[in-house]
Amino acid sequence: MKKSQIVVAKFGGSSLADTGQFRKVKGILDADPARRYVVPSAPGKRGSADEKVTDLLYRCCEKAGAGEDYAADLMKIRMRYQEIAAGLGLEISLEKEFAVMEQALADGAGAQYAASRGEYLNGILLAAYLGFEFVDAAEVICFDKDGRFEAERTNVFLKERLMEIERAVIPGFYGADDAGSIHTFSRGGSDVTGALVARAVQADLYENWTDVPGFLLTDPGIVGHPKKIDAMTYAELRELSYRGATVLHEDAVFPVRREGISIRICNTNDPGGTGTLICRETSPENEETITGIAGKKNFVAISIAKNRMNAQPGFCRKMLEAFEENAIAFEHMPSGIDTISVILSREEYNRKKEALMDSLRRLLQPDKITVDEDMALVTVVGKGMRSQSGIAARFFTALGMAGVNIKMIDMGSNEINCTIGVSNQDFETAIRALYDALVE
Ligand code: ASP
Repeated sequence: MKKSQIVVAKFGGSSLADTGQFRKVKGILDADPARRYVVPSAPGKRGSADEKVTDLLYRCCEKAGAGEDYAADLMKIRMRYQEIAAGLGLEISLEKEFAVMEQALADGAGAQYAASRGEYLNGILLAAYLGFEFVDAAEVICFDKDGRFEAERTNVFLKERLMEIERAVIPGFYGADDAGSIHTFSRGGSDVTGALVARAVQADLYENWTDVPGFLLTDPGIVGHPKKIDAMTYAELRELSYRGATVLHEDAVFPVRREGISIRICNTNDPGGTGTLICRETSPENEETITGIAGKKNFVAISIAKNRMNAQPGFCRKMLEAFEENAIAFEHMPSGIDTISVILSREEYNRKKEALMDSLRRLLQPDKITVDEDMALVTVVGKGMRSQSGIAARFFTALGMAGVNIKMIDMGSNEINCTIGVSNQDFETAIRALYDALVE
């Protein structure tokens, strides 16, 4: 007998921002009974001037810590949930939950506890509205006492618990350690919870419902109305989200990738749309030349020159040791014969530059160290690049025609990404030029 399909559906904050959005969510779940496990975020913005419940919670906590009055913020949070519950005609009262939360804030509860209440309360409401069982993430998502996430224990706990439940709501973003203290993932972490649930129940699909039509080929703030990406591989997603594409939390891919579970980015406001499918292999008809273009500003290139560097075995190792000593992760490492450069984030550089320079001088005795503090990185991703010739020519011609000076080039060895370094002021021009040349 073929097992019935299981779909895990994660809904982002804007998909659960008010009564109208809750109704849309129910419509989506009713349309496909395979959508058995639901992971909600906290209520998000109802419009551009609105505030996310998570942000309000962080603010309450900050004010509580500073001894300031936060009653008005707390009231805003309370109203958000009350409006949703009343609008949906739910009989449920969150009074007890609020009393516990308020006491905890007054007693100096940490920011992670405070922030997690957004998803927790929303999960209770959503479960009541859908008639699904509520499973508190604190009981199934495990962290150690230092706040490190424990993947394997979580998988066992989630699996055991959900196996017995036909339909459940598991709030996103948080979990707890053995002593019951709450820990959260980084911002946007409900995507990670969704992926963990999908892994545990061996879902056929992980649907990530949001307020955009899917992954766009590039930042719509830079290129007006970029095309949507119909399908991409996990590896392409990793490259794009690492370089700043923000639809899905960076860490959400790992739990599903290992099981080969596909992710579909869907639009709650247009459930009939095709969204973006992320899977192990995309089919050739989905193979556009370029899958996406992403980028980030504010990197620094440190260049180290030393005559006969090429003849000194271990030079590279010692250089990396200087970075390791200072716990600095780097982005790229282009090299010449007597020079080698390392590209790292400006923030990291600013925090640790003195110590890093000391380590580099001590370990390498270089002839010269120069620093270029004005670099933006732009990455073009596409597994279609592997099999086509002439892409690089189009790529560099476009940048040349747009007057963009290229400071660094790095083509990944898997040939699905090519990164260039340009000055921060050329960042947007470079992205527009590449989009026009490679996509349009
Ligand atoms: N509510 C959390 C945030 O705003 C987590 C999430 O929505 O995924 O970051």
